[in-house]
Amino acid sequence: MKTNLLNFDLNGLTEHFSQMGEKPFRAKQVMRWMHQSGASDFDEMTDLAKSLRTKLNAEACIQVPELMMSQESSDGTRKWLLDVGTGNGVETVFIPEAERGTLCISSQVGCALECTFCSTGRQGFNRNLTASEIIGQLWWANKAMGVTPKNERVISNVVMMGMGEPLANFDNVVTALSIMLDDHGYGLSRRRVTVSTSGMVPQMDRLKEVMPVALAVSLHASNDAVRDTIVPLNKKYPLKELMAACQRYLVKAPRDFITFEYVMLDGVNDLAKHAYELIDLVKDVPCKFNLIPFNPFPNSGYERSSNENIRIFKDILQQAGFVVTVRKTRGDDIDAACGQLAGQVQDKTRRQQKWQQLIVD
Ligand code: SAH
Ligand code: SF4
Repeated sequence: MKTNLLNFDLNGLTEHFSQMGEKPFRAKQVMRWMHQSGASDFDEMTDLAKSLRTKLNAEACIQVPELMMSQESSDGTRKWLLDVGTGNGVETVFIPEAERGTLCISSQVGCALECTFCSTGRQGFNRNLTASEIIGQLWWANKAMGVTPKNERVISNVVMMGMGEPLANFDNVVTALSIMLDDHGYGLSRRRVTVSTSGMVPQMDRLKEVMPVALAVSLHASNDAVRDTIVPLNKKYPLKELMAACQRYLVKAPRDFITFEYVMLDGVNDLAKHAYELIDLVKDVPCKFNLIPFNPFPNSGYERSSNENIRIFKDILQQAGFVVTVRKTRGDDIDAACGQLAGQVQDKTRRQQKWQQLIVD
């Protein structure tokens, strides 16, 4: 089988080229062709000797995931559904804003962590994405949008907030992050690449050592009792441990704060008492809050908090001195909002039956 060069970061590619008897600078050239020029054919790489191209054609390939569908919302949000085999698809979303363009990418087909308010989590888990399938999302978006007339990249930020738990697919995510940050890859700054985690404590410690990028933590609750019910992973890594891991992460993080994401679920975690409890919980962790109005999906069993409750919650945090943003819902007409990324997941666990059973009950 041919080796897919899209699975390598620069170190891996250099190693691969040295095994082929090629010089390290060839790896840099090929890296730039693949990721900066969007090449998927060695014959496009005109500054490689014909003999090397022939050798590469025989032994290697650049295999990007196939595009199943792309959509554009009236507000400029774009969404791509990529084929990751055997009927499965994952989604990538681009959100344009005045000062930046953010690409939200997926890390797994489905998710095994079963957060109760998340449509991806409810669909079950199929498998991890390969590094090429993760970076392939950026490859496609970059190819579709290219650079601005001023030759600036349209995609200035990447957030790993699509389908899946990035830290549960650690090695492939780290390889993809390495390509995003590499000057021969996408050249993004560490501060502009964010991993979002539901709180996998040991992997947060590892990420800090090998690839410290900006970190968002899906907190969603101010005490263990509530968090245990909506983010089941909390039973394994409760809030005290999670807060300590955040503090440790900040020692090496490219930004001097953690972003806490907090989905606003009516009557569950959105009361004034929760906001006060939250202030106490995070007192030793420099942080910002991103409140996410819950995005409903069929049979979720949850309601979005009222605008009034979101405002009160936000005011309490702000009065305590925190920077708080409320996430705007974008791409409504193409179901591109947080937690609505459904893709196409063939569940390999018995999750779906379990949920269907609950709904019937
Ligand atoms: N697995 C990672 C990243 C993917 S989810 C994580 O959990 O952090 C990205 C964000 O969207 C997380 O904060 C997640 O909790 C939130 N989210 C999931 N479902 C949602 C929904 N239905 N409405 C609003 N936000 C949701
Ligand atoms: Fe997985 Fe994140 Fe959804 Fe939880 S919120 S089920 S960790 S994708």
